[in-house]
Amino acid sequence: MSQAPNVYDAEPIPAEARAEIDRMLQSGDLFRYTSAEASPVALLEAEFAELLGAKFALAVSSCSAALFLSLKALRLPRDAKVLIPAFTFAAVPSAVVHAECQPILVEVGDNYRVDMADFAARLDDGIKAVIISHMRGHTSDMDAIMALCDARDIPVIEDAAHSLGTTWNGKNIGTIGKIGCFSFQSYKLINAGEGGILITDDADLIAQAIIMSGAYEHNWKKHPVVHDRFAFWQNQLPLYNLRMQNLSAAVIRPQIKEVARRVRDGLSNHDYVADLLNASPFITVPAALAPERRAPDSIQFNLDGFSDEETLAFATEAKAHGISVQVFGLSQDNARAFWNWKFIGYTPELPKTRAMLMRACDVRLPARLQQGDLDYIANALTGAADVVKKSARAVA
Ligand SMILES: *Cc1c(COP(=O)(O)O)cnc(C)c1O
Repeated sequence: MSQAPNVYDAEPIPAEARAEIDRMLQSGDLFRYTSAEASPVALLEAEFAELLGAKFALAVSSCSAALFLSLKALRLPRDAKVLIPAFTFAAVPSAVVHAECQPILVEVGDNYRVDMADFAARLDDGIKAVIISHMRGHTSDMDAIMALCDARDIPVIEDAAHSLGTTWNGKNIGTIGKIGCFSFQSYKLINAGEGGILITDDADLIAQAIIMSGAYEHNWKKHPVVHDRFAFWQNQLPLYNLRMQNLSAAVIRPQIKEVARRVRDGLSNHDYVADLLNASPFITVPAALAPERRAPDSIQFNLDGFSDEETLAFATEAKAHGISVQVFGLSQDNARAFWNWKFIGYTPELPKTRAMLMRACDVRLPARLQQGDLDYIANALTGAADVVKKSARAVA
C-alpha cells in the first residue's frame, strides 16, 4: 500500500441501532425514566455489568461525570487529597477539582505506568482516595497498588476510560478497584459520541451515585438492581443531573458484541507494529506488564537519544508521509502534559514524567486497519527516525 491509511474515521455504528433510534424518534421516548418498562439505558446498565462481571452499573453523560460521582459517593471532605498519575488526560484532575478535592500527582515512568517507588512514597495518611488512570490503556501494577492501598484502607477508583477489554491476571480492568469508570466518547472502544458508565460491587456507593446522577424522587426503582441503600439515601443527596439519555444507549448497546473483535484485532495490530518499530535502533515500544492483556487502539513509543529538535523533526518527517505523530510534551497546550493543568493551582516538579512526555509519541492504530496499512505506518515511522538520525550524523 502506497497511500497513508486514514486512522481518524470511526467504524460505522451497527445497523440495528437505526431501527431502535427510529422507534424512539417516533415515540419521543428519549428520557431514561419515562417508560414503565426497562429503558434502553437500564438495559445497557444490566448488559454492561454482566459483560464486566460487576454487580452494579450506572450509565452517565461521560467518564468525567463517572469519576466525579465516584469521588462524591466516597464522601470525601472538601480539599481531600486524591492521588492521580501525572500522565493522564486533563479530565482526571478536572474531575478531582470538580469534586472540590485536591489532585496530588505521582510520577509515571517511561513505560507510561505509575512509578511504584514514587507512589509508595506519596501514599501517606493525607491521601483519601486514589484514581489510577490506565492512560492509553497501559495498566499500572494493580497488584502492588491494591496491596499498598488496602493496607491503608484507601479506596481506589480505576479510570478505565480507554481500557475496555483489557485484563489483568485474567480479571477485567475496572473491576479491581472499588469503582471502575469507562468512556463512550468517540475515541474509545465503544463510540457514542459522548457517554460514560461506572461499575462497582458496593451497594452503598451505587445507591449514592445513582441518586446523585439525577434519579430524583423514586426513579432509582427503575434501575436494574434495587436494594435498601436507596431508601436510606433518599433526599439526603444533591441531584447533579449527569444522566445518559436513551439515544446514546441505543448507539452503545449493539456495539457491545463488537468489543471482543475490536480487542482481538487492536491487540494483534498493535503487536505487529510494535515488533517492526522495536527493530529500529531509535525507537522503543515499552512491553506490557506480565499480568496485562491489552486492548489497544493506538500505539505509544519512545524516541531513544533524540533531542527536542530531532523529536520535532521526526514528527514533521512522519507527517510528510501522511502519519500524524503526537508528542505529548512538545505540542502546544497539550491536555496530557501536566504543566498545562494550571487550574490545579500549582505546577509540581515531576522530572521522570516530564522526560517521558518529551519523547513519548502517540499514533492512532484503529482495529479496522489491514496489514498493508500497518506496514505503511511502521515504515513511515522507522523511515522518519532514520532520516532524522542520518542527517544528524552528516552534520556532526
Ligand atoms: C477519554 C478519557 C477520559 C475522559 O472521558 P470522557 O468520557 O470524555 O469524560 C478520562 N480518562 C482517560 C484516560 C481518557 O482516555
